[in-house]
Amino acid sequence: MKLNTIAEKNYLWVEEMGWHNKTVLEALALVASEVGEAINECRHEKPSDEFPEELADIILRVLDIAHWQKIDIEKVIEQKMLKNQQRGNRGRLK
Ligand SMILES: [Mg+2]
Repeated sequence: MKLNTIAEKNYLWVEEMGWHNKTVLEALALVASEVGEAINECRHEKPSDEFPEELADIILRVLDIAHWQKIDIEKVIEQKMLKNQQRGNRGRLK
């Protein structure tokens, strides 16, 4: 499934559940909370078995914001990757 399709499908489900936030700032705070959950799954030498699901939660929350804000996230990601590649290493060493 493509990212924009996942974004729309997830957005519609969250809307149906009545869980959408009123502001982008609130929605971003929930992205941060999912990052915290992912961090908790990495407290030992290796990430836990739950770590992949927490990464998915982060992505789903970001995609939800993108769909809500009418952002073509596939296009923006491709453009940003190209921009990053064209900038080179900006003096940073490997
Ligand atoms: Mg989570």
